[in-house]
Amino acid sequence: MAEVTLSGLSKAYGVTQALRDVSLTIPDGAFVVLLGPTGAGKTTTLRLIAGLDRPDSGDVRIDGVSVLRDTPAQRDIAMVFQQYSLYPHMTVRDNLAFPLRSPMIAMPEDQIATRVAEVARVLRIPHKLDNKATALSGGEMQRVSIGRALVRNPRIYLMDEPLSSLDAKLRAELRIELTRIHAELGATFLYVTHDQIEAMTMASHVGVLDEGRLVQFGTPREIYEEPISTYVASRLGQPRITLLPAEAFGALAPPPPGAAQIGLRPEHILQGEGAPATVHRLEHLGDQTRLHLSLGTHQIVTLADAHTALAPGDSLAIRPHNPLWFDAQGNRLTAPQP
Ligand code: ADP
Repeated sequence: MAEVTLSGLSKAYGVTQALRDVSLTIPDGAFVVLLGPTGAGKTTTLRLIAGLDRPDSGDVRIDGVSVLRDTPAQRDIAMVFQQYSLYPHMTVRDNLAFPLRSPMIAMPEDQIATRVAEVARVLRIPHKLDNKATALSGGEMQRVSIGRALVRNPRIYLMDEPLSSLDAKLRAELRIELTRIHAELGATFLYVTHDQIEAMTMASHVGVLDEGRLVQFGTPREIYEEPISTYVASRLGQPRITLLPAEAFGALAPPPPGAAQIGLRPEHILQGEGAPATVHRLEHLGDQTRLHLSLGTHQIVTLADAHTALAPGDSLAIRPHNPLWFDAQGNRLTAPQP
């Protein structure tokens, strides 16, 4: 169990400033997801915590003690990567046992057997223990990779897009598994992804990175409902938030002072009253329908009932309802709304 504190962490690679003054506390037992597009600094954050790289400035503390002088092994952290790192010629059992047989740990074989059996149970692969690693499906291989992190019972788990190489069905399955494993272990997880569904469904807290800066940290719900900027607002939500000039709806939604953009998620759009929009495309997703509308020259994406009778060319009246307002820099207006 461990609390991780990052303070003023910065790191450059040559001319690239990968992290800029990141401060963050990962509470003991939390499942923190770092969210951001490629290049935002997510992997760099993990590498600095793991000790695979040194920060240019700032500190990494675990349970209040700086670990900057400790080697990766001394930090007692396990990392799971996107690409499974299994020994193909070994059985699943030996792959799982491998970290425990290392000179650093050198656990007695009878304890190893108990530990491997326990992890195989958690991962639901006890019947695969005698398989060669190569005789596994992709999802099973990734479970074993995660298992190699779990056997060690480290203080912190760092996971770098561990599900991104899997197909959609397996990803959905392992999302649920990881949430269950996290709850069962009560361990501290720091998890990197650019998949917003993983962030929304697994995280206790989400940190949003933008070009090396931590721009917002909160529960998935806070990040979704109270984004501090258009950048953060665009990270979560499907369909993506629609951003239009503040005056797009005229007197139907008068902009508050300082507003330059209006942000509309589907729940911010009332249908059946207001300004006439035109349906120009429908995407039937099974349980819901995504509705692409034009309002003058503006494009709006929202949701409709799965069995909507709307068709391309139809007119649909819409009006904003408690939308999000942003200034010209994309920062959220936080002044009380009329
Ligand atoms: P993310 O994981 O969010 O995609 P990274 O932390 O991998 O982002 O990278 C942040 C920035 O630092 C990127 O611009 C990347 O190109 C750069 N970077 C990361 N590692 C190195 C490296 N070893 N050498 C040079 N540049 C790097």
